[in-house]
Amino acid sequence: MASVRYDHVTKQFSETVKAVNDLSLDIKDKEFLVLVGPSGCGKTTALRLLAGLEDITSGTISIGERVVNDIAPKDRDIAMVFQSYALYPHMSVYDNMAFGLKLRKMSKSDIDKRVKEAAGILGIVHLLDRKPKQLSGGQRQRVAVGRAIVREPKVFLFDEPLSNLDAKLRVETRAGISKLHQRLGTTFIYVTHDQTEAMTMASRIAVMKDGILQQIGTPSELYDHPGNMFVAGFIGSPSMNFFNAELAGSDGSMVFNAVTFKLPVPSDSREMLRSRSDEEYVIGIRPEDIYDASYPAPGIESAIMEAQVDVVEPMGSEIYLNLLSGENPFVARVDPRSRATSGNSVGLAFDVNKVHVFDKKTELAIR
Ligand code: ATP
Repeated sequence: MASVRYDHVTKQFSETVKAVNDLSLDIKDKEFLVLVGPSGCGKTTALRLLAGLEDITSGTISIGERVVNDIAPKDRDIAMVFQSYALYPHMSVYDNMAFGLKLRKMSKSDIDKRVKEAAGILGIVHLLDRKPKQLSGGQRQRVAVGRAIVREPKVFLFDEPLSNLDAKLRVETRAGISKLHQRLGTTFIYVTHDQTEAMTMASRIAVMKDGILQQIGTPSELYDHPGNMFVAGFIGSPSMNFFNAELAGSDGSMVFNAVTFKLPVPSDSREMLRSRSDEEYVIGIRPEDIYDASYPAPGIESAIMEAQVDVVEPMGSEIYLNLLSGENPFVARVDPRSRATSGNSVGLAFDVNKVHVFDKKTELAIR
């Protein structure tokens, strides 16, 4: 068990490629930290630096109290599960799991105990004699995790371990990994580009873009209080809608004028906005905060607008409406009773108090 600290860590592959740029991150003991971001943002590199598979250009990484910059990967007390499970095809599941321990010259009885215990935790005892090719994708994934567990590392690293699984199995395995984290009580650091995985599993999420840490927080902190437009758009599905808007009026009549609708400024933000000199903002509203005006959530302060329905996507317990209004398309997640049909207009109710406001130039959140 251990904490992990990145202190101003940079990894420069070449003059033009800075994969990780001045990353500072404190990961607590026993935490489940998910590093998330789009392809190429540097999350795998950040993990590989911690594992010792890449050299650090500048900065330090510590595991517990120990700076590990110059410690060999095998001596770092960490275990990594990759996207490609990298099992040895000619070895049984048992031998795949035992291999690393044999290399360390552990006694046969200790190896046997650890392999069987890990297999028990993962529900793969009945598969121990099989070869990898006789396993399903999900079973192979569990063997790969088993191989990490037997090493009893201080920190587990996962690099997109679910991306080769089909959608249903991904959901099941996600829950399995969360349970495993609770059971082992060890620090987990997990890399994915999938915000749903991040939201469902993480104690805290670190969002990266272009090698730079954008924000770190609990799933609900990132969802409710994204620090900038990138995090706001990345966390949440479907993504937050953005509209350019001009601030107009004063006090009670203060409004955001978007191209095709007006939104009253929430009362708690009027003073803050009055103290700023800007007139142009970007406002953000999540699809779940836009209602079919016939079925609004009770008690909300709403602003009503009309929009053209482009596509209707029934999802069972809710309906996604792809809408067109003025400059940009946007999405609403509405009540399944909605009678909106494509090609027609629909009345919408925006939950005024759920609006996010961003500085147009810096893209930083101001509300
Ligand atoms: P993905 O989700 O696609 O795996 P990622 O967020 O994990 O992406 P990295 O694999 O860390 O991103 O890559 C970050 C940047 O560093 C990318 O621009 C990538 O092309 C570059 N990069 C990664 N490894 C190397 C390498 N060995 N040599 C040169 N450039 C590299």
